[in-house]
Amino acid sequence: MPGTLFTQVRILDCSGEMPYPGEVLVQGNRITSIHRGEPAIPREDHLVIDGGNSMTLMPGLIESHSHLSIDNSDDLAKIGMVPPEETTLIAMRYAKFYLDCGITSCISAAAAKPRVDVVIRNAINAGEISGPRTLAASPWLTVTGGLGDLRREHMPDFSSMAIVLDGPEAFRQKTRELIREGVDIIKLVISGDTFVPHAPSDSTVMSEAEVAAAAEVVHAHRRRMSAHARSADAVKLCIRYGIKVIYHANFLDEEALDLLEANKQWVFVSPNIGFTAIAAYEGEDWFTEEQVQQLGFREELAGAAEGLTELRKRGVRILGGGDYGFGLTPHGNNARDLDHLIKYCHFDSMEALLTMTKHGGAAMDMGDKLGQIQEGFLADLLLIDGNPLEDLKMLMERDRLQVVMKDGDLHKNSI
Ligand SMILES: [Zn+2]
Repeated sequence: MPGTLFTQVRILDCSGEMPYPGEVLVQGNRITSIHRGEPAIPREDHLVIDGGNSMTLMPGLIESHSHLSIDNSDDLAKIGMVPPEETTLIAMRYAKFYLDCGITSCISAAAAKPRVDVVIRNAINAGEISGPRTLAASPWLTVTGGLGDLRREHMPDFSSMAIVLDGPEAFRQKTRELIREGVDIIKLVISGDTFVPHAPSDSTVMSEAEVAAAAEVVHAHRRRMSAHARSADAVKLCIRYGIKVIYHANFLDEEALDLLEANKQWVFVSPNIGFTAIAAYEGEDWFTEEQVQQLGFREELAGAAEGLTELRKRGVRILGGGDYGFGLTPHGNNARDLDHLIKYCHFDSMEALLTMTKHGGAAMDMGDKLGQIQEGFLADLLLIDGNPLEDLKMLMERDRLQVVMKDGDLHKNSI
């Protein structure tokens, strides 16, 4: 079968092994042959893409915390005001843009409207629009007074992009509705957050009964959950109720660290420290020094760095990318956090890179076919001018991306 043959490339397979020179053949949507060393795979009728011995072939990036339906805005009220139709167009635009950026898979971490991720995922899968492989999330479910509840006593109906619920029955019903509408992931906001004055990051605002009610429905339907869990108690609830992808996990105590380690076969931590790191040290245009101190970004980053350094040591899988689509963290800079993991959490560049490749594939339950260059794996591939291991920030430079292939199709080919 005629395919695409990448020749004279540096193969960075993202198994954890260092790169090696060779050739890779793609037929249909799979990697069918890998050869190490001098050219050897017969050319036949294949389209040949030559890396000139200077380019790197690596798996497409997997974003573990995407918000395709948010238009680089920090204002949750404004995001809430955008109608569903426009929201869908926003998500469609960024879905294509993510492929342009080499992001070939996304685990959504909340949609701005209940059905937008579902519609986008379905249209991508049907080949109607361009975009990454996508796990569709619900909007985030929060409690009265939690992150995203923008109502006040005098404006009881004001809504943001969050869905505000109280009590196990309300969580059970909404979870059933959202699964009926087709979401893959129910997103819970279990802990507080920096931006909620009466419920800071180290507090746990959702009750165990509420988490349990959502979990019961999710597990009955064999769907999955993710959670905003900055506090140690929120992380413990995640483990207890089978929440596979835990976001943030800034303030871990010894018990939470032990629990994560004991469950590392199935659980993943997606720290999303980009926003915090940028706010703490590069956010002059957004926050005054007084605000940085008042909001505690540096303490939050230090807490996260301490926890992540420990999780890395204990072999808990960390996921990269995270929370891009806000003003401070615009879409397209998703690989920025890889450098933060090196800078603040003692990762080496290979370990950091695996958080957006190998571990991302495993977090999507596709670890045996996604996130690495191996024979039989899905052909989501990037050809990069240079060696990303020398500086992972290179992954944000779109003009270095010579080829973007998703599912065997060439989304971009500049060779
Ligand atoms: Zn988020």
